[in-house]
Amino acid sequence: MSFDFAARVERVEPSATLAISNKASELEAQGVDVVDLSVGEPDFPTPENVVEAGKDAMDAGHTGYTSSNGIRELREVIAEKLRGDGIDAEADEVIVTPGGKQALFETFQSLIDDGDEVVLLDPAWVSYEAMTKLSDGSLNRVDLAPYDFQLEPALDDLSEAVSDDTELLVVNSPSNPTGAVYSDAALEGVRDLAVEHDVTVISDEIYQQITYGVEPTSLASLDGMADRTVTVNGFSKAYSMTGWRLGYFHAPEELVSQAAKLHSHSVSCAVNFVQRAGIEAMTNTDEAVTEMRDAFRERRDMLSDLFAEHGVDVPVGDGAFYMMLPVDEDDTTWCEGAIEDAHVATVPGSAFGSPGYARISYAASEERLREAVERLAEHDYI
Ligand code: PMP
Repeated sequence: MSFDFAARVERVEPSATLAISNKASELEAQGVDVVDLSVGEPDFPTPENVVEAGKDAMDAGHTGYTSSNGIRELREVIAEKLRGDGIDAEADEVIVTPGGKQALFETFQSLIDDGDEVVLLDPAWVSYEAMTKLSDGSLNRVDLAPYDFQLEPALDDLSEAVSDDTELLVVNSPSNPTGAVYSDAALEGVRDLAVEHDVTVISDEIYQQITYGVEPTSLASLDGMADRTVTVNGFSKAYSMTGWRLGYFHAPEELVSQAAKLHSHSVSCAVNFVQRAGIEAMTNTDEAVTEMRDAFRERRDMLSDLFAEHGVDVPVGDGAFYMMLPVDEDDTTWCEGAIEDAHVATVPGSAFGSPGYARISYAASEERLREAVERLAEHDYI
């Protein structure tokens, strides 16, 4: 039997992050100690009270389907949080999803077809490209690498890319893979272009809680953006809940009702008891979140100091838990070598549209981060 696969799946490559973690697992299976800095998840346990809330919800019998868009109490808490960010949100404009990724997927599927143009800011998280291809869209990419990954100095380039043909622009601040948090002036520049060319903007704010000394602005709170912004967020990074699969998006009601059809015909709803644990996460974890944020900040500072000691100047962002290490132009070969020789796993920048870099996740202990830098130096990778 030979399958006649749909063009949309054949257009997409398997995730580069996965290829690296497979390589790491392979080496580990041979007994090699790999310092894995390729992973995109916090290395902390989910806060205990959130775990308890999940267990309690299960014990209380919350194990059936919920309403497709999510339980009302959680959507109310989300709407209130968004109002705190300056977004004029109502519970009915929110869909709770199994992870922020599903929220993004439903947005792409609702808006993009047949060559519609999607503008990405490179380096961009790997799945935006895949989601564009899976929805038959065409990509137009703006490179932020020459500007130390900041958006404000790249606004002229962005204005050349965005036109009346642009359907969707994706903004991710704090950014994976750079850690950059875009300035208000940058976001206002995005707003001006979006309004001028009637473009919908996804604001992926999944790292919003993980910032160091800056308060990120929510794009949908800017004048003119409320009726054209899809705000995506989730629980994975803020509350160390990657495996629970919980996220959400907020958008104008018209878009939510289209996406709701995709949602109900695909995932039905997010897991019932997980949604209930989500309420606890959003209302009672300030201390745990602060602890994680402080730890990430210390690691970021330590790591950039260590690289500096080896003469490598790494552009450091004010958020998320990633940095882009400048490496050889052939970053894929560099990353393959680094894992083979130094047993340090990183992700090639080219996977994010920016060759010449390796993405480092500093969601690892200070000891492991030190070890990684030592090994890279010892094997002449830095
Ligand atoms: N957006 C970005 C930028 C991410 O890095 C991730 C996770 N790697 C997601 C969305 C999706 O996260 P999740 O589905 O776990 O909520």
